[in-house]
Amino acid sequence: MQCPFCNHAEDKVVDSRESREGDSIRRRRECLKCNRRFTSYERIEEMPIMVVKKDGRRENFDRQKLLKSLILACQKRPVTTVQIDNIVLDAERRIMDRVEREIQSIELGEILMNELKRLDNVAYVRFASVYRDFKDLPDFISALEDVLTQRDRAVEPSKVKILQPKQSTPTIERSLFSTDDIKKRNEGTGL
Ligand SMILES: [Zn+2]
Repeated sequence: MQCPFCNHAEDKVVDSRESREGDSIRRRRECLKCNRRFTSYERIEEMPIMVVKKDGRRENFDRQKLLKSLILACQKRPVTTVQIDNIVLDAERRIMDRVEREIQSIELGEILMNELKRLDNVAYVRFASVYRDFKDLPDFISALEDVLTQRDRAVEPSKVKILQPKQSTPTIERSLFSTDDIKKRNEGTGL
């Protein structure tokens, strides 16, 4: 299974257990290259769940893709991979419970953002900035203000120049993401 952190293809299984419902097997895996751990789930093949994109196209729900975008948003933040896993798993369960077994990508993005917001404001703002693509600037600024209000030490107020007049949005990008992140960021949220 491909490592969501470094894309290496080889891993070892460190723990394996059946879900409480008995419908899936959860395997804790460790990447043989970067040694980080992630979780995979094996399920009995069932009807796929679909994500309806903004242009109306339907795509299979891709949990690996969502995991990657969340991991990127949570880089160097106090959010564990288990918490990230759970966000995606919960979203998946919610869609599976629906009769139509599909979800609009916008709604899926909102669900993920809300869950992230409960865990870490900086990760939330990063994810929201990629997902919303800066089109929703008032919301984005209010999210940033939340971060500042809570005096999160990871964001030095001096670096966040968005609240000063006549600053363009790329300033936020520079302060919240490293150059490397911005490159990766271009891969988008997968939504
Ligand atoms: Zn790895």
